[in-house]
Amino acid sequence: MHVLILGGTTEARTLAGLLHTGTDVRVTSSLAGRVASPRLPEGGVRIGGFGGVDGLVDWVREHGVDAVIDATHPFAERISFNAARAAATAHVPLLALRRPGWVPVAGDDWRSVASLQEAAGALDGLGDRVFLTTGRLGLAAFADRPEWFLVRSVDAPDAPMPVRTEVLLDRGPFTLEGERELLHRHRVDVLVTKDSGGAATAPKLTAAREAGVPVVVVRRPPVPEGIPVAATPQEAAAWALS
Ligand code: NAP
Repeated sequence: MHVLILGGTTEARTLAGLLHTGTDVRVTSSLAGRVASPRLPEGGVRIGGFGGVDGLVDWVREHGVDAVIDATHPFAERISFNAARAAATAHVPLLALRRPGWVPVAGDDWRSVASLQEAAGALDGLGDRVFLTTGRLGLAAFADRPEWFLVRSVDAPDAPMPVRTEVLLDRGPFTLEGERELLHRHRVDVLVTKDSGGAATAPKLTAAREAGVPVVVVRRPPVPEGIPVAATPQEAAAWALS
């Protein structure tokens, strides 16, 4: 049994560990190769794009893959779409592993938007100092904004980006204490985030609530139609073993 995990997330790494240890399943995790020094999962690893749907179909066939688990980030829309097309073409079962999205609680001031472009537009009137945590890609959507941006990302972002930008290179998990301190030190007026879900980057939401800082939340793209979804690595492992 050979399972291909499309990875790049904490959950994908946990899943690879669950299947690699204590089962007969052969696991290969695939990473896009975006991060310079990624945390590697247990089991086999391959790095780099497949070359679209056809490339993924070829890879699945050539390596005798029996099942695919799309454990990519909820916002990695292209690879999820490709996985759905490729699995259907190669006739292998596909599961999507998606950590649940974040849900606002009392005291939160969230503005829900559909895209980074909409997020940029939603900044009107929310203040001059923006904490942008949507990743190093897609900064072009904010390039024409007049505000000052604190951009936090794992690797350095490329232009185009807002003229008034300070880059903070860091990788989660983040602590509540650290996020409180960051919002305070940089006098942040508004936080922008994707609805990534999960615990590793959630403390910024609590810190924002405590500080009365509004949060612009980019909604997730949908999982491709007809693909079953697991919420945890344990659920996904059980699916692979069933
Ligand atoms: P994307 O837009 O959905 O995918 C763009 C292309 O990158 C895909 O067509 C594919 O190239 C390649 N690719 C993406 N994920 C891959 C994987 N796991 N293995 C092999 N190739 C992959 O993806 P993205 O948003 O740029 O994200 C890239 C990776 O970073 C994903 O694996 C994701 O899990 C991780 N990540 C993304 C975000 C985010 O906010 N988007 C955040 C954290 C981590 P080919 O067509 O050539 O196969």
